Amino acid sequence: MPIPLNVLVVGSGVAGMAAAGAMHRRGLSVDIVERRTHSPAGAGLFLPGNAVRALTELGLGAALGADGVPIHRQRLRDQRGHTLAEIDVTALWDGVGQPMGITYDRLRTALVDNLPLPVRTGVTVRALTESESGVEVEFSDGSGGRFDVVVGADGVHSELRRIVNPQAEARYVGQICWRFVTDNTADIDAWTVWLGRGATFLAVPVGKDRLYCYADLSTSGPVAVTPAGSSLAEHFSRFDNQVRDLIARPEATDAHFSGIEEVTDPAWRIRRIILIGDAAHASSPNMAQGVAMSVEDALVLAESLSGTGEIEQLLEGYRQRRLPRTQWVQARTRRRDSTRGTAPVVRNTVLRLAAPRIYERDYGRLRDVP
Ligand SMILES: Cc1cc2nc3c(=O)[nH]c(=O)nc-3n(C[C@H](O)[C@H](O)[C@H](O)COP(=O)(O)OP(=O)(O)OC[C@H]3O[C@@H](n4cnc5c(N)ncnc54)[C@H](O)[C@@H]3O)c2cc1C
Repeated sequence: MPIPLNVLVVGSGVAGMAAAGAMHRRGLSVDIVERRTHSPAGAGLFLPGNAVRALTELGLGAALGADGVPIHRQRLRDQRGHTLAEIDVTALWDGVGQPMGITYDRLRTALVDNLPLPVRTGVTVRALTESESGVEVEFSDGSGGRFDVVVGADGVHSELRRIVNPQAEARYVGQICWRFVTDNTADIDAWTVWLGRGATFLAVPVGKDRLYCYADLSTSGPVAVTPAGSSLAEHFSRFDNQVRDLIARPEATDAHFSGIEEVTDPAWRIRRIILIGDAAHASSPNMAQGVAMSVEDALVLAESLSGTGEIEQLLEGYRQRRLPRTQWVQARTRRRDSTRGTAPVVRNTVLRLAAPRIYERDYGRLRDVP
């Protein structure tokens, strides 16, 4: 029996947990370290069919069924609440996976429960030295180890990316956003978006009577964090009553606020260090492909490292296989973002006439197995 590869995963977000789980299932020896000592407070997630397929392959099908909410339709409205289009996403993803809404916390808990390995929390990488036989790692708690492969799953501001390519920085895409979860007293039963000029409000059922709300705004530079509730109310004061009621909730006052960034450098790898998830290809969230791309990365990486051959070739094979799909998602995402400046009257007409075709064009290719 060959000795299994010994892999270090840095970061225990969705990408890191999925990679650790997928590699452990294939018999690789895995260590996972996480800088934080507690899971970040998350909001909600919409999971399109390919995300559900990948998570199911990872063994999370039952957890998604128990903790998520099936989303059958995506409803597009103008800012006053007039319906522009409805997309039957159950049909769009037929044979792939039933789209779901879920809270970030539930998904992360399911990933933790699915991984029969401890995550070493409060620990990061202090130094890495590459040699013929692998990567020597010094950890922040004074311990050390030798690994065949190091996986950087450390998010959009990845420190491992600085080693892979110091020039590859995250870029602000010109949008800020607020996120919070509240009670679904309005009985919103579908993914529902209200589209304004350079501003979007989205509501997605994510659990029993729980609703994830996401609001974004185009700006030339990330603005300072002001009391979230009041600035949100100000920016969305011309939106439909239903939106204004949600923004008036106490949870909106403590909404998680951030600028949106993307990472587009295709390098991803130097020798035996490989980047996955947001560290490699963070995108603005308008296609909701972050979890899907991260978990697909994890499954393909585990499969690639289970092959035979030189480790660096296996990692390069992984990169070559994943690049076209992630770059395609980023290109579609950028194209969708570019319509944010279109006059609402034009955009609304296009959506009334062509929304199902646009969805088919943007997502159709992702029905293929990665
Ligand atoms: C506003 C917004 C909305 C989104 N909505 C959706 C959605 O609806 N659907 C969807 O599929 N995706 C969505 N996404 C994207 C999705 O959340 C991510 O793509 C996905 O969670 C994968 O993230 P990740 O694991 O790569 O990175 P992260 O979640 O950032 O995890 C990185 C982890 O690494 C740890 N870490 C960082 N540095 C170090 C270090 N040096 N050492 C050790 N640990 C370290 C961090 O503490 C963190 O735990 C959204 C993203 C944003 C910004």
